[in-house]
Amino acid sequence: MSPAEAMDAVFIDIELDEPAKSDPELAKKLEEVCTVGIFKASAAGTEIVQGQLDECVLCYLCVDACPTGAMRIIKKYEN
Ligand code: SF4
Repeated sequence: MSPAEAMDAVFIDIELDEPAKSDPELAKKLEEVCTVGIFKASAAGTEIVQGQLDECVLCYLCVDACPTGAMRIIKKYEN
């Protein structure tokens, strides 16, 4: 991988468990708290916008908005 490609790499992944993922109210809340547009709310629940993942600023507002343990932010890099 070239350095330029490494810069474009996704550095985090987000996991959201059911039933929280299918909760339309939680989806609206997540869309609201995440300032970089990683969550999209629909009637079916929360969609995680993969193309926005590298914009995450690790503020953890989304984790706080979810029921305890329902959401995990997985860092894919060292440090
Ligand atoms: S940690 Fe912050 S920036 Fe990252 S997905 Fe959650 S709310 Fe969005």
